Formats: sequence, structure tokens, C-alpha cells
Amino acid sequence: MPSALNADLHCHSTASDGTLAPAAVAALAARNGVALWSLTDHDELSGQAEAAAAARRLGMRYLPGVEISVTWAGRTVHIVGMNVDPTSAVLNEGLVHARSGRTRRAQEIGERLASLGIAGAFDGALAHVGNPDLISRTHFARWMVERGVVADLQTAFSRYLGDGRAACVPHRWSRLADAVGWILASGGAAIVAHPGRYDFTPLEFDVFFGEFRKAGGTAIEVVTGSHTPDQYDEYADVARHYGFLASRGSDFHGPGETRAEPGTLPALPRDLTPVWAQWL
Ligand code: AMP
Ligand code: MN
Ligand code: MN
Ligand code: MN
Repeated sequence: MPSALNADLHCHSTASDGTLAPAAVAALAARNGVALWSLTDHDELSGQAEAAAAARRLGMRYLPGVEISVTWAGRTVHIVGMNVDPTSAVLNEGLVHARSGRTRRAQEIGERLASLGIAGAFDGALAHVGNPDLISRTHFARWMVERGVVADLQTAFSRYLGDGRAACVPHRWSRLADAVGWILASGGAAIVAHPGRYDFTPLEFDVFFGEFRKAGGTAIEVVTGSHTPDQYDEYADVARHYGFLASRGSDFHGPGETRAEPGTLPALPRDLTPVWAQWL
């Protein structure tokens, strides 16, 4: 029964905005009983070799992954590429393009925070960065918590860094069809990450899922640490309605942060076809 397998196909490491190295995330996943694992850093594959080697040592099956930032209809959405080939030239060239502009944007975030009376944020965030190509809002949020500017990460986003807040610098990420195309060209499957996080109307969702499918996308995340339990049911229904395969992943970023630990979420509903069934 593939849906009963403890699969966690969405985790972050210091190669993007996680706080643990790939091998340490692997160790935590294995300790929690994960049998099939994927590290899916934002716009970045540099953690894949370490993740795959650690998974092998720990007796977990491994699928190479990535989470690509996309701008669709003026909003940011995330597309997970699963079982991609980390050596694919098309995917790597696409991700170089995807990462470019992050540093300039981060400088602007620093300037906005300074104008709000919070000085030194760019350098502060940089001190939290594991991969200099991949500075993200999460690093600013961690610095703001460390400095006592806010009590927790959630407040850093709701007050300053979240979409539309005063220190959020809008950014043009990759195009949906490009991101899905890079994933398919590298032999992977494209999965809509945490659809419950997007502030779309039902009509916008319908257009979005239609474009995603037309580009070659086949799956959505149903059980994720970025959904509420009510949203597990809601997006299980969406998967049934559109005939999408289903995925499960913690979206783990680090111990003590808000999302679930690797491998600890409920199983997918048994009637859905897990995206991983095609690779077992
Ligand atoms: P960026 O890629 O720089 O736009 O940063 C996006 C990252 O910020 C996401 O991958 C999440 O890890 C984090 N993030 C976004 N919104 C929130 C939130 N409300 N609470 C905590 N983390 C968030
Ligand atoms: Mn993140
Ligand atoms: Mn995401
Ligand atoms: Mn993620």
C-alpha cells in the first residue's frame, strides 16, 4: 500500500533556508521512521549529493528534489520538482536564472527595514545564511527574532516580511511553464507545493491548476506541514476533482520552528495515488 509508506518529500537544509545541514536533516528523518525521503531546497541543488549519500547510509530510499519559486498572476507559488536529475543542464541553467536577483532584493529588504527604524538587517540576515546565493526572507526573520525585534518567525512575516507587508520587496520569480519544463526535462515530476497557502479565488485556482496541468504538472501536496489539518481534506478533494497525484512532506526548516518534524504528519488518504507510487 504505497500511501502507508512513511514518505517525506519536502524538507529544507542550509543549502537554502533550513537551519540543519543535509546529512543532519537525513538523520532526523531516519530517526522518525522515514522510508522514502527528499531534500527540496529552494531553487538549489547543492545539497543533493550529501542528502543522497546520507539517506543511503541510513537505509532510506532517496528521491532528488527541488522547490522552485514561481510568479503566477502576480503572486508567488512554489513548484516542487521530484525525482529530478541533479546533473541536468536544463534544470541547473534554469535554477541559476532563478537564484539571480536574490541578493539585490535582500539589500532592498534591508533598506526598507532601515527606513522602518530596524538597522543592520542585511548584514544580520547574511550571518544566518548557509548558501550566499540563497538569501531569503526566512534569514531576515531569524535575525529579527534573535535581535528581539519580534517574538517569533510568524510575527516577523505577519508584521514586516509577508506578502504585501512593509518590508516585503516584490520579486519576479520564474514562470510557471518554465519551472515545470525544467523539472520535466530533467526526468522529474512537478508538484504544486502547499496549495492551501495561496490566496486565490476558486476561479483563479481553476485557471492555475489548468495551466499547471497543460505545462505537464501532475501532482499537488495534500498533507504538508504548511497546511492545517482541515486543508488536508480540502486538497485531497482537489486532487480527486482534478485527478492529480498526491504528495506528502513536512516542509521542515529546522528544529523548534513552526512546521512539522520530518515524517510525523498523517498518511495520505488511501484512495489517492501517491506521486511516489510510479518510482517504487
Ligand atoms: P523568499 O523565498 O525569500 O521569498 O522566502 C520565502 C520563505 O519564507 C518560505 O520558503 C518560507 O520558508 C518562509 N515563509 C514565508 N511565509 C512565512 C510565514 N508566514 N511564516 C514563516 N515562514 C514563512
Ligand atoms: Mn522556506
Ligand atoms: Mn514553499
Ligand atoms: Mn518548502
